[in-house]
Amino acid sequence: MLKNHKLAGAIADGGFYEFRRQLAYKCEWYGSKLTLIDPWYPSSQICSKCGHRQKMPLNKRQYDCPNCHVSIDRDLNAAINLENAESFGRVSLVMERSRKIQARN
Ligand SMILES: [Zn+2]
Repeated sequence: MLKNHKLAGAIADGGFYEFRRQLAYKCEWYGSKLTLIDPWYPSSQICSKCGHRQKMPLNKRQYDCPNCHVSIDRDLNAAINLENAESFGRVSLVMERSRKIQARN
């Protein structure tokens, strides 16, 4: 089945759909906040300190900003950007404790 790329893609999409559904369910159950970020948000390409954007090939593991000269691990930089994404309006969906879904953007 996985040799068929279209089918493999559908299976993978189903897996993510189920993961997202379970995550939303658990967050609602425990009263946690679920924030979903736009999948195209370039979290690894943006400097978490100054906002400069540059191309980052996957083999480049260190983000070296030519603008503010910060040097930071690629994944840490992306994690900081994702943490701050909500304040920059890059959120596609927020599920609050009150079981209310607010679409944004
Ligand atoms: Zn920078």
